[in-house]
Amino acid sequence: MTDPLRFDQAAWHDPDGERYEPLLSEKGNREVAVESELPDDLTRDTVELPDVAEPELARHYTRLSEMNYGVESGPFPLGSCTMKYNPKFTEDLAADPNASVHPDRSTRSTQGTLQVMHELQDYLAAIGGMDAVTLQPPAGAAGEFAGLLVIDAYHEANGEDRGEVVIPDSAHGTNFASAAMAGYDVVSLPSNDEGRVDLDALDAALSEDTAALMLTNPNTLGLFERDIETVAERVHDAGGLLYYDGANLNALLGRARPGDMGFDVMHYNVHKTFATPHGGGGPGAGPVGVVEELAEFLPDPHVRERDGRYERYTPESSVGKVHGYAGNWLVLLKAHAYITRLGDEGLADASAKAVLNANYLAERVEYEVPFGPFHHEFVASAGEQDAADAAKRMLDFGVHPPTTKWPEIVPEALMTEPTEVESKRTLDQLAAAFNAARDSDDGDLDAAPSRTAAGRIDQTSAARNPRLSWQALDDE
Ligand SMILES: *Cc1c(COP(=O)(O)O)cnc(C)c1O
Repeated sequence: MTDPLRFDQAAWHDPDGERYEPLLSEKGNREVAVESELPDDLTRDTVELPDVAEPELARHYTRLSEMNYGVESGPFPLGSCTMKYNPKFTEDLAADPNASVHPDRSTRSTQGTLQVMHELQDYLAAIGGMDAVTLQPPAGAAGEFAGLLVIDAYHEANGEDRGEVVIPDSAHGTNFASAAMAGYDVVSLPSNDEGRVDLDALDAALSEDTAALMLTNPNTLGLFERDIETVAERVHDAGGLLYYDGANLNALLGRARPGDMGFDVMHYNVHKTFATPHGGGGPGAGPVGVVEELAEFLPDPHVRERDGRYERYTPESSVGKVHGYAGNWLVLLKAHAYITRLGDEGLADASAKAVLNANYLAERVEYEVPFGPFHHEFVASAGEQDAADAAKRMLDFGVHPPTTKWPEIVPEALMTEPTEVESKRTLDQLAAAFNAARDSDDGDLDAAPSRTAAGRIDQTSAARNPRLSWQALDDE
C-alpha cells in the first residue's frame, strides 16, 4: 500500500497571519496618457494602470499560478470534464509565428491551413464513423447546439415539426441546456438499476414529437450501453435521430465508433480527448460530425478539396454560422498534431490505457465503487461522508478533486477519470489520496482543504455573484 503524500501549497501571509496576495492595483497606480488616432469621443485622455516594475509583475503572476492547482501540479482525475495533460510539442507548433494566419487571408495564400483543416475533418470523421465534420463550434456545448440546429433543419426539410429531445437523467448538464436553447422541450429518461438506458422508459418517451435522443456511450458512470443497437433502432423507428455526446471519446479511440452504433450526429471535445487545452474558458473547439443525409445542413463555411485545391464553401442548406470564420484554428492545429503524432496505433493504445487506468484505480480505491467493469471513468461513493468534503480533502494530499455529487444515481458521487496519461506510480498515489480522505475524521473533512493557498471557497456565491474585476471590488 502506498502512503499518501502531504501537499503544502505556496502561500503568503500578512503580519496578522491572513493569507495575502495584493491585487496589482493595490500596489499603486499611475495615470498614463492615452495617445490614439481614434476619435476623441471614443477614447479617454488617461487611464490608470498599475505602477509595478517588471520583476514585481512576473512574480505576482508566478505566485498566482502557484496558488492554483492545475494538470501540471499533479493528477487531475476530474470525471467527465477531464482535462488530460497537454504535451508541449503541440504548444510549440501553435506558438510558431507562421501558424498564425489572419482569417481574411485569401484561399490561395492559405492552402496549408485549409489542408490541415480538411485533414482534421477527415480524421475526426474516421474516428467517429461519420461522413462529414464541421470544425466551427468553439466548445462541446456549442457543438451540441450546432448539432441540434442541424437536426432541426433536417426534420424541417422533411416537412416535420418535432419538438422534443429525449435525454437520460445522468446526461451532462449542457445536453439539457443545448436542447432548450435550440427551442426543444426536454423529455428526461430515467436509468435502469444497472445505470444504463431503460428500454421500457425509452419506449414510453419516444413519440412522433421526438426530434432526437442525446446519449453518451460509455455513459457518465463509465458503463457501455450494451443495448445501443436496439436503442438506435427504436429511435429511428420513431422517426428521431441519434445525437452522440462525444465529449469523452477516451475509451473508444480506435476501438468503436458512434457511427457504427447508429448515431447520426456527434460532437468531439478536442480539449478532452485530443489534448488541446482551453483553460480558463479560453478558445476551444467542439467539432460536429454527421452522417451523409445531414451533411448539407452543416454550418458555414466548410472546407473541401477540389482538383487538388482546398477551399471554403457553404453547404447547400447550411444552418449558417455558429462562430466567426472557420473556428478556433490554433486549437484545431493542436488537435491535428496530436492525432498525427499518435496515429492509428497510438490512439488505440491511448484508449486501452485510459480503460486500464480507470479500472486499476477503481480497484485500489477503498470507497465503495458500484457498477463496473468500467471504460474511461468510474463513480465511487463517499458513503457517509459528504462528497464535497472528501473531494476537498484530497487537495491536502496533492490531488485535484474529482467531480462530485453527479450523477445522482450514486449517492455522494466521486466521479473519477484518471486518463491514459498517468503512470502506475501516480495512480497508486491517487488511490492513496482517495483512501486518506476516506480515513479522515470529521474535523479534517470540515476544514479541508487546509494546506492550500485558498481555503474552502463559497462556490455558490462565486457562481451567483461573481466579481470579475477590481472595479467591482472597488465599487463595494
Ligand atoms: C464537458 C462535457 C460537455 C460540454 O463540453 P464543453 O466543451 O465544456 O462545453 C458535454 N458533455 C459531456 C459528457 C462533457 O463531459
